Amino acid sequence: MRAVVFERYGETAEVREVADPEPAEHGVVVRVEATGLCRSDWHGWQGHDPDIALPHVPGHELAGVVEAVGDRVTGWRPGDRVTVPFICACGTCPSCAAGDHQVCERQTQPGFTHWGSFAQYVALDHADVNLVALPGELSFATAASLGCRFATAYRAVVQQGRVAAGESVAVHGCGGVGLSAVMIAAASGARVVAVDVSARALELARTFGAAQCLDATSVPDTAAAVRDLTGGGAHLSLDALGSPGTCAASVNGLRRRGRHVQVGLLASPDGTTPVPMARAIALELELLGSHGMAAHRYPPMLELVRSGVLRPDLLVTSTIGLQEVPSALAAMGTAPGAGATVIEPWS
Ligand SMILES: [Zn+2]
Ligand SMILES: [Zn+2]
Repeated sequence: MRAVVFERYGETAEVREVADPEPAEHGVVVRVEATGLCRSDWHGWQGHDPDIALPHVPGHELAGVVEAVGDRVTGWRPGDRVTVPFICACGTCPSCAAGDHQVCERQTQPGFTHWGSFAQYVALDHADVNLVALPGELSFATAASLGCRFATAYRAVVQQGRVAAGESVAVHGCGGVGLSAVMIAAASGARVVAVDVSARALELARTFGAAQCLDATSVPDTAAAVRDLTGGGAHLSLDALGSPGTCAASVNGLRRRGRHVQVGLLASPDGTTPVPMARAIALELELLGSHGMAAHRYPPMLELVRSGVLRPDLLVTSTIGLQEVPSALAAMGTAPGAGATVIEPWS
């Protein structure tokens, strides 16, 4: 098969022929019909992820057709149209037994712990636990965007954030996760304040349902501006970017007993980030993390996508072939686009 391979971190990847993957006895091989390019792929290529072993094939947001199944797989057969969360759970550890597959103790991640989906085929572990059947109406390109950014935003807003109609929701950072969060919160009946430093990102946020857009470069204190716009603070606020500044602004922009959800990955050299805990105590704030979404929790989200209430397809702004991936991957470092790029490995 053809795949995007890199031998060294940060060195231009190349498209070449490699051996087709074989399914594990509990796994499947999926023919990749569409796969999303995400900033996490760029982080992996830069060497920021300790799970990656070289040489490596990136790619973790995907949709396709089951090609081969392992002997112990009971729920899937060749020809099934599927997608998968980027966190593949083991199905048997205590967290999985409690239904919390998104924090599985023995998780695998295609494109990180093993070769991913910037290839014509990808192997996925524990298929009976992790695969999600795609409704017939859903295109592969749309489905590919669900696995990482959209499902992550859905869990952050709906499941961890417990959004309710009529609430004020602030979304700090309007990249892929942030724009998805804006759309999901607005569709839930919340009044959304979108915050970013890019006019283009804010313009998209408005089309995705933000009631108010705040350019963080235009105000001296982002949190104070959010409190003004929301009549005393947001009920729910997300840091969808992941920086000390957006994390603090999100917490400080909450009203009493508000909920902060940290969904943007925080890269700091020592793994810690300052959080305004004095405010968390005084106002009885809830501070929550959100990490992907378990396969068994996809159905309500898929139903909203199928019925057209949620439109992840609007996030897809370009489609490329494998040949264009090495340069597109490199460009993620300097110019992460406002929309999502989908790769079609067979085009
Ligand atoms: Zn991703
Ligand atoms: Zn597990």
